[in-house]
Amino acid sequence: MDFLPVFLDIRAQPCLVIGGGDVAARKTALLLRAGAQVTVLSPLLVPAFDEYLANGKVAHRAARFRAEDVTRYAVVIAATDDETVNREVAAAAKALRIPVNVVDQPALCSFILPSIIDRSPLIVAVSSGGASPVLARLLRARLETLIPAGYGGLAALVGSFRDQVKARFKPAERRRFWERVLQGPIAELSFSGRDQDARKALQQAIDDPRLTVHGGEVYLVGGGPGDPDLLTFRALRLMQQADVVVYDRLVSSSVLDLVRRDAERIYAGKERASHALPQEDINHLLVRLAKEGKRVLRLKGGDPFIFGRGGEEIETLMDEGIPFQVVPGITAASGCASYAGIPLTHRDYSQSVVFVTGHLKDGSMNLNWPALAQPRQTIVFYMGLVGIDILCRELVAHGLPAKMPAALIQQGTTPQQRVLTGDLATLPQIVHQAKVKAPTLIIVGEVVRLREQLKWFEPASLGVL
Ligand code: SAH
Repeated sequence: MDFLPVFLDIRAQPCLVIGGGDVAARKTALLLRAGAQVTVLSPLLVPAFDEYLANGKVAHRAARFRAEDVTRYAVVIAATDDETVNREVAAAAKALRIPVNVVDQPALCSFILPSIIDRSPLIVAVSSGGASPVLARLLRARLETLIPAGYGGLAALVGSFRDQVKARFKPAERRRFWERVLQGPIAELSFSGRDQDARKALQQAIDDPRLTVHGGEVYLVGGGPGDPDLLTFRALRLMQQADVVVYDRLVSSSVLDLVRRDAERIYAGKERASHALPQEDINHLLVRLAKEGKRVLRLKGGDPFIFGRGGEEIETLMDEGIPFQVVPGITAASGCASYAGIPLTHRDYSQSVVFVTGHLKDGSMNLNWPALAQPRQTIVFYMGLVGIDILCRELVAHGLPAKMPAALIQQGTTPQQRVLTGDLATLPQIVHQAKVKAPTLIIVGEVVRLREQLKWFEPASLGVL
């Protein structure tokens, strides 16, 4: 280790910045964020300093640097493009053992500034020890995406309860308590900005820790249409902290692979006509697992609230008083349309889009056909494969031209994606001839024509998938 990472308290401490350019302004801003009293020494200042000078945050000394300028400062930063000045600053500061940073010259520094992810009071600092600041910045960007924006608020919240929790629980219980709080509904309340509710819930959890320390919860998570890259950050986070996952057939294996490795896996099926578990059993299974104190991930294809029966599942959870959260996912219509190069709306061709289920009930499809067969509208059928003959026939009977373009997208967004296009007259035949299988999405509308123009955007054709 070439440097010792430390976090310095410089609140209300005098700090000196030498240099008046944009780099000096950025360093000044950083020191100000940490509450320092900054003096800038430079004959001239760029306009970036105007604001700081105007509101009195920074003192300016319009002069050239002399070694005597380095006196009782907590920190000194040299940000000039004059190598001799930079050297003099470093020498003067080191003589007085004042921490000094010379921008872009690690050899002259007694400390270096890391790339930071600021979720104050939580701060993550990344340093390459001066070897490659760009690499450190790239790593920082990756970490940014992993750490929810609300972590700072959560850290502040938890900090204010620390003493209370310490007094209430033994060390082992305490750890479990905090793990539960930081990964559970209380954390999620804080992330979504409901700070007062989170505070109340945390107080309740301390007063009656049965639920937090022993109770389970359910995450109803949309796993998207197949490509794991389409998961949300929140989905991934909850997938990695679940004790057990109850998943549907629609969840792709590459998405399932991202669930915590030692989580128990329960297949809840849902193949047409041969439901592995009836819906009611799934509802009760979720309740039972949560009551055993488990963090239950109910993982669904697409979005849980779009033809996903998510509403029914949370009703049972609510009846039983089980804490839960719902995480949206990219629904098949969005995923398949994008990956097939078909925009769902288009100012010249389609002003509205409807998502409708083509699921057959007792061999028939009871839909509002006149409302569907409207001009300048895109219709997306979920579960429409078995009833393809009926749906094409009804749309034509209710006024759509037989030549209306239509597309079939099988296993959209996965490496096995297949896209077949035709029109309302030819679609049933295509399904039978090409042996199209579930899951397949059907898109009907003029927008399907645009596929020819946009085709080269298809990730598969770029060799990405
Ligand atoms: N909740 C899901 C939909 C469940 S209904 C969502 O929001 O996407 C199941 C139907 O969704 C399937 O019959 C099929 O029509 C469609 N579907 C889901 N994933 C798909 C995929 N990867 N490719 C094509 N169709 C898909």
